Amino acid sequence: MMYPEIKRRKTREVFVGEVGIGGENPIRVQSMTNTDTRDVKATLAQIERLAEAGCEIVRVAVPDEKAADALKEITSHSPLPVIADLHFATLLGETAIKNGVKGIRINPGTFKKKEHLKRLVDLCRDYGVCIRIGINAGSLEKEVLGKYGWPSPEAMVESALKWTRLIAEEFDYQNIKVSLKSSNWWHTVRACELFSEKSDFPLHIGVTEAGGLIPGTIKNTMALTLLLLKGIGDTIRVSLTADPVEEIYVAYEILKDLGLRRLHPDIVSCPTCGRCEIDLMKLYREVEARARKLKADISLAVMGCVVNGPGEAKHADLGIAGGKRFGFIFKRGKVIKKVPEEKLVEEFFKEIDAFLKEYPERILRRET
Ligand code: SF4
Repeated sequence: MMYPEIKRRKTREVFVGEVGIGGENPIRVQSMTNTDTRDVKATLAQIERLAEAGCEIVRVAVPDEKAADALKEITSHSPLPVIADLHFATLLGETAIKNGVKGIRINPGTFKKKEHLKRLVDLCRDYGVCIRIGINAGSLEKEVLGKYGWPSPEAMVESALKWTRLIAEEFDYQNIKVSLKSSNWWHTVRACELFSEKSDFPLHIGVTEAGGLIPGTIKNTMALTLLLLKGIGDTIRVSLTADPVEEIYVAYEILKDLGLRRLHPDIVSCPTCGRCEIDLMKLYREVEARARKLKADISLAVMGCVVNGPGEAKHADLGIAGGKRFGFIFKRGKVIKKVPEEKLVEEFFKEIDAFLKEYPERILRRET
């Protein structure tokens, strides 16, 4: 068996615009823009790049009225459903909803009055807007914090259940999903596990404030892997202090390596050693950048030498191996071409195109 057997937890199906989350839907990949939302052009440009990389839902921060106003143009041109992140700016929710967002992210504990929350929920019902109840360890309500003494996973779950019940039962609105996030990856895991034992609302999972590309990827991978292996998680966001497009690639890498979803090629590469006579790191970067634009179920190899490369990567559909001023292209372990170094990447991608023409079923389309 190539991948672990994962039985996904049964959750209710909710919708952010046309994108179904939970139920039988694939695990959705989402991100958040880091542009100034008031700068419509820059925000839309980033959303386009995110969509191109495979993002399915995008969240934007709504810190003030101008940002809420800008949503009108953003939502009418965005290729992805937009979620307004309201956090403490709960009074801007009305404008955001009327300006076309398909989801809002709120922390109900930040509402000063219950009737404000009720009004917003009613508006979500009128406009078919999904609500994410976003519980963060850093902003738990005083009452719960006082009871537990610290923002423990149990405290986060109590808060999440309280708000979920209020909105789903008392306000009778069920188009909701929930997140329980901490910058401590283990607390995130425990909170999500405990919540999923008590509720079947879909879970948005990820570690918050996880750090830059390397530490953030590690923390998110640890948390998401543990949760996804248990079938927990309906939509993921890998939060990184990096270009948000990287969040999408990391998310798909995690899902691919767990056998849950594929979008981009799988690339294996060797660490190089004294046998390598080519600038393999440069070669790898070029191959990776071009491969990221492909949506295909194909495995590629970038290897440092022809002595070991094709044999060690014979499971790859196509690969390249470095030589001295030359490189070799191999298909399932067999060398098929010798190419001058400067033409290696170009020739490699011609072979990839030919391979995908031979096996068109390997071309992936995103499910909606
Ligand atoms: S493929 Fe060749 S260059 Fe790469 S690590 Fe193995 S022996 Fe070294």
